[in-house]
Amino acid sequence: EPIAFAELIDDVVDQFSLSAKQKQVQILRDLDDECIIMGDADRIEQVVRNLLDNALRYTPADKKIFITLYRKGKHVHLEVKDEGIGIPEQDLPAVKQRFYRVKKARERKDGGTGLGLSIVSQIIQKHEGHFDLISVEHEGTTAVVTLNSYSEDVLNS
Ligand code: ATP
Ligand code: MG
Repeated sequence: EPIAFAELIDDVVDQFSLSAKQKQVQILRDLDDECIIMGDADRIEQVVRNLLDNALRYTPADKKIFITLYRKGKHVHLEVKDEGIGIPEQDLPAVKQRFYRVKKARERKDGGTGLGLSIVSQIIQKHEGHFDLISVEHEGTTAVVTLNSYSEDVLNS
């Protein structure tokens, strides 16, 4: 099914707005609303939710999260960038594996199960896209999702 990606992201950000406020983390958006993708909207929503959940969980108070959505050639790119604790270089290749958590994350009391990013990888793979993580420890992390771009015509067909 065709998905208006910016609308979907707005919905997810709304779901997180209360916890972001409580944590005093600002979520800033720059979304091109002409980005249309194809796929399973529930799965894609889960991708955005898992990425935003991480950005929020691993970012301290008074920092920001930037969500950017743009088209480039035949692709749509979603970037979720945070100013959080980052991922050590040696852990970066492994964090997309099921149950893998960086030591610092394992020690947290509000810890998860280590499944979020493996689910993101699987879903994006099924949609024939790409999922990349760029991270610098103590500086922050950027998750980049790349999917095929469609014309707005598919919304009315
Ligand atoms: P959950 O299953 O609830 O998502 P999780 O967040 O621990 O648990 P993943 O989302 O798969 O699992 O992330 C794996 C690990 O990668 C995390 O435990 C954390 O160590 C690291 N990580 C993921 N995203 C970030 C981020 N934005 N900043 C810093 N570390 C991160
Ligand atoms: Mg997670």
